[in-house]
Amino acid sequence: MKAVMYHYVRSYDSTLPFFRYLDIDNFRKQLDYFKKEFGYVSYEEWQNFIENGVMPNDNGKVILTFDDAMRCHYDYVFPELVERNLWGIFYIPTSPYSDNLILDVHRIHLLCGAFRGPDLLAIAESLIDEDMIPGEKIAEFRNRTYTRQENGAGVSEFKRLMNYFVDYQLRTNIISEAANQLGFVFKQNCFYVPLESLKVMKQKGMVIGSHSHSHPVMSRLSATEQKSEIERSLSVLGTLVEGEHTTYCHPYGGFHSFNRDTVDTLIQLGVAYAFNVDSREITPEDYRDFRFALPRFDCNLFPFGQVS
Ligand SMILES: [Zn+2]
Repeated sequence: MKAVMYHYVRSYDSTLPFFRYLDIDNFRKQLDYFKKEFGYVSYEEWQNFIENGVMPNDNGKVILTFDDAMRCHYDYVFPELVERNLWGIFYIPTSPYSDNLILDVHRIHLLCGAFRGPDLLAIAESLIDEDMIPGEKIAEFRNRTYTRQENGAGVSEFKRLMNYFVDYQLRTNIISEAANQLGFVFKQNCFYVPLESLKVMKQKGMVIGSHSHSHPVMSRLSATEQKSEIERSLSVLGTLVEGEHTTYCHPYGGFHSFNRDTVDTLIQLGVAYAFNVDSREITPEDYRDFRFALPRFDCNLFPFGQVS
């Protein structure tokens, strides 16, 4: 069995000329490819695996997962799955719903979609002082500046600066100020799948899971903070995650992104299984030994899965 992970699946938007996404036409082609090559894990087969550890008869079948509750999952992905009689698991960060905001990680994607890397970097540089960088990263930050001058700079440098160096407490304001200076307005109301639409998706056989509340790197948080993140998320999702095996997906993914406290909390809160990012097939041992970091492939590891 192989789980495949998707983020943005949409078509070209001229207001975001540099935006990175999987084109809906390529998504369709990839679904055709999976059908032909591997087939899909049915909902019943998946339940049987989660409850009893029983693998589907055919090896290598595909299960589809979608992270971050992007609006395009409702507009593009959902109709495509319904038409093909497929189902998927959608992992939802809940802070956008209760706090009416766009997560920083997504605001950075939007800025990178709208503006050129060097312009973004220039503004970020003008807004960021060394005292906004946590102490343990200062030396690396200074070194990075030197490298940048040598090699030129682009969007990956901007992302690295925002995601890796800047103190998280200050980052929200820096992103807002950068957008301000560029005249870019974040449209809160149309970035995520509306809660009502998530209900429609669930009614039509999609599974809704938790992706934490505010999408932090959980391993950076204390056990108490982690518990609060997962509890709040399950509480906002409410009935959307009730009545079946509650599922969770680690924000960012990879074994560095969560720790034992995360897993203890998931078990304590009755979560049945969780997905990680780890490029290998799901095996019977994953059920037997550790259900809280089930492996998933990025869609770009298969034909037609490259982002535009
Ligand atoms: Zn995510």
